[in-house]
Amino acid sequence: MRSALVCGAGGFIGGHLVKRLKSEGFWVRGVDLKSHEYAETAADDFVIGDLRDPYLCRHVIDRRFDEVYQLAADMGGAGFIFTGENDAEIMHNSGTINLNVLDACQKRMIRRIFYSSSACIYPAYNQQDPDSPNCEESSAYPAAPDSEYGWEKLFSERLYLTYGRCHGMDVRVARYHNIFGPEGTWTGGREKAPAALCRKIAMAASGGHIEIWGDGKQTRSFLYVDECIEGTLRVMRSNHRGPFNIGSEEMVTINQLADMIMDVAGKRVEKRHIPGPTGVRGRNSDNRLIYDTLGWQPSQPLKTGLAVTYKWIERQTQSNMPLAAD
Ligand code: NAD
Repeated sequence: MRSALVCGAGGFIGGHLVKRLKSEGFWVRGVDLKSHEYAETAADDFVIGDLRDPYLCRHVIDRRFDEVYQLAADMGGAGFIFTGENDAEIMHNSGTINLNVLDACQKRMIRRIFYSSSACIYPAYNQQDPDSPNCEESSAYPAAPDSEYGWEKLFSERLYLTYGRCHGMDVRVARYHNIFGPEGTWTGGREKAPAALCRKIAMAASGGHIEIWGDGKQTRSFLYVDECIEGTLRVMRSNHRGPFNIGSEEMVTINQLADMIMDVAGKRVEKRHIPGPTGVRGRNSDNRLIYDTLGWQPSQPLKTGLAVTYKWIERQTQSNMPLAAD
């Protein structure tokens, strides 16, 4: 039986990845600081532990897994990674996880390991124009990410690729672009734009209002989680180490994203713009390399995934509504 280790299995993408690997017949071990908040884990073995601890890493990497997926990271939406307040923890925590996991894999002679990097590694100078951002893989250098989160991801990409070169490991690297879907963080300050907007719209009265950080004219693209998992497996099982973008090329403004969510919700609310962290002005995935090399591209439009995600978040808001005062 093939075996896989998913680091960050208690998180959003890791939880979906475990389900997919189980459906393919893998024996799966998950590891995370916490259990999954929104679903029972499908993993055969789930270890609660801190991957910053090298002993824990050696303990969970105790066999030659056929596939290791390293998704654990200290991350969140703009409210967490763009304020600057959490930068030291982000760099220390994620950097330490990556150093430890990779070293334990090398000592256990694991060959194939996937690392989830991010679109946040791309230089800020190529993302100032909301209409034509450049996120082609080869444009990553000269490096100038706009956040320390992005710098750590860039360092860790290089770390994985270097282990591949120096230790003969088959490392695979993908740069995710704004992944969204059910069973992800939707409240608490670490949620990203699609989940935050779904929550705000679900909780607003029809004809009421929601708040949007900035002018809402910054552009992004958003990829539904099932598409991300398919892209991840294609990269992992290919003969190409990457880095590859895994994202959508359907670029929208944040205002348009809010309008699309209102459409699927069947509700209109006013958009009020307030000051807040927004990140770069424009960002879009460039899928030419992954499509030409692996034939992967998203199979569904943004709105299809938004409809499923909105329904899930709407249910969460209803089951988490504070009780009316007596
Ligand atoms: P997530 O926060 O839901 O999952 C990350 C998981 O890592 C969490 O469950 C967290 O508890 C765990 N973790 C953090 N520190 C740990 C530690 N010290 N030991 C063990 N576990 C630890 O995030 P996600 O959206 O599922 O993202 C998965 C990966 O993809 C991350 O590396 C993230 O940086 C990357 N990524 C995600 C997106 C996105 O849009 N979701 C975009 C780009 C890159």
